[in-house]
Amino acid sequence: MHVQYLPMRWGRGDNYAYLITDESTKDSWLIDPANPEDIPEETLSKVNVVNIVNTHHHYDHAGGNGHYKKLLKVPIVGGKDCPSVDVVPQDGEKIQLGSNLEITAIHTPCHTQDSICYYFADNKTGEKAVFTGDTLFTAGCGRFFEGEPSEMVTSLNKLAQLPRTTVVYPGHEYTKGNAKFALSVMDNEPLRQLMDYSDKNEFTTGKYTIEDELAFNPFMRCDDDELKAKFHCSDDIQLMGLFREMKNNF
Ligand SMILES: [Zn+2]
Repeated sequence: MHVQYLPMRWGRGDNYAYLITDESTKDSWLIDPANPEDIPEETLSKVNVVNIVNTHHHYDHAGGNGHYKKLLKVPIVGGKDCPSVDVVPQDGEKIQLGSNLEITAIHTPCHTQDSICYYFADNKTGEKAVFTGDTLFTAGCGRFFEGEPSEMVTSLNKLAQLPRTTVVYPGHEYTKGNAKFALSVMDNEPLRQLMDYSDKNEFTTGKYTIEDELAFNPFMRCDDDELKAKFHCSDDIQLMGLFREMKNNF
């Protein structure tokens, strides 16, 4: 599996699009290519893009759908509210890409009701990756625009069930701010190392795994007894709601 991250430079300049390629066939998915001007045509001409894919309907992820549908003439895979969407995968549905990549769609409603994460397993190399849009960020999670804390708990629990070695590719580069917030509510060595790395590097996507998230992401640790006690919360849903509110005002 080859993963190329494509920083989208317009707007706030912190979005990621991704091009994921099955190395034997060059069949590829182009995920969240919101701003076509940021993707050189030669990047796409070297591979065979079979689908444009969205993690959710927001413009800074799905804004390139019209352009690419016209240019590449391939179906758009995404959540139900994504513009011009052709294929809406069911929760848990498996999709084959090229000879070796098996993709599983994971519905993760909360940031939007149509949010979908895509888990990739390479049957040849054993590599595993998940593209999480605005549901899971490195050391953070998306705002609850269309959902409740209980839905984010359920969604992040689904991601926590993935193999620990799965590499996480989020929809934005928010690591620095997330790590700062995380350090204000908890402290451990993996989190300090993350803070240090994000201070020194502009891009952090693809460096961390589900195992790392379980260590340094407070939103992935809402069932931690120490954290629940520290913030006087009786359960993970209450702590999820509290952390989100604190982060929104951080
Ligand atoms: Zn969004």
